[in-house]
Amino acid sequence: MIAVQGIEKRFHRTPVLKGVSLAVPKGEVVVIVGPSGSGKSTLLRCVNFLERPDAGTITVGDLTVDARRATRAEVLRIRRSTAMVFQQYNLFRNKTALGNVMEGLTQVRRLPAAEARGRAEAVLAKVGLSDRLHHYPSQLSGGQQQRVGIARALAMDPEVILFDEPTSALDPELVGEVLGVMKALAKEGMTMVVVTHEMAFACEVASKVAFIDGGVIVEEGTPAEVFERTREERTRQFLARVR
Ligand code: ATP
Ligand code: MG
Repeated sequence: MIAVQGIEKRFHRTPVLKGVSLAVPKGEVVVIVGPSGSGKSTLLRCVNFLERPDAGTITVGDLTVDARRATRAEVLRIRRSTAMVFQQYNLFRNKTALGNVMEGLTQVRRLPAAEARGRAEAVLAKVGLSDRLHHYPSQLSGGQQQRVGIARALAMDPEVILFDEPTSALDPELVGEVLGVMKALAKEGMTMVVVTHEMAFACEVASKVAFIDGGVIVEEGTPAEVFERTREERTRQFLARVR
């Protein structure tokens, strides 16, 4: 499981996260929705210390750290157990699909090349890219590039994968193949936190939906609770805009 408690983050004294707490039990999918600028990306980035929180605790598995004071070793342990998938894929342009997935395994995990290669081939097969191992990002569609991004995250065998709007940069006809891979992962019991505007995906896959606005979680519950039996006016206004 992964949880954050009382996470605060300021940029130049402007509070962006104002005490966010969220628990993601093992094997569950939590979807985060909210308007632009509400702090969704900052929250995910705080979870794996791409941003250093100003306050709060982060728990991954049996490790709980004081986010502001976490040591280098603690930060590394949290990073190792949380993989991130970005809107813009962030692939190495000069590496093939296989090379992109192998990179973290050889450079960060220090696996021997043959072992890294076997593992990379296995996760690329899982996302349906066995026939694209030697293609460079420029030779892949957006949906295929994002599936490489997901394979790269999977290869690291994380406790949780954090997705930040993984389909927002895609042409509409390519969204389905990426959501399909994510649904399959969810079914297999992968723990996932997903920032997305794909409400149908949230309804189908999420065990919990959290609505964030102005750096606080305004409302959370099952998809039915948040989308159909909405309690908060701010949530209702947001949903009216995105639907
Ligand atoms: P979007 O839906 O547009 O991706 P978001 O909910 O992900 O929005 P964040 O990217 O988390 O929002 O940003 C929250 C607020 O923090 C915004 O006002 C943003 O301008 C500000 N912010 C984010 N990163 C930084 C930074 N590195 N320096 C200064 N301000 C930042
Ligand atoms: Mg964002």
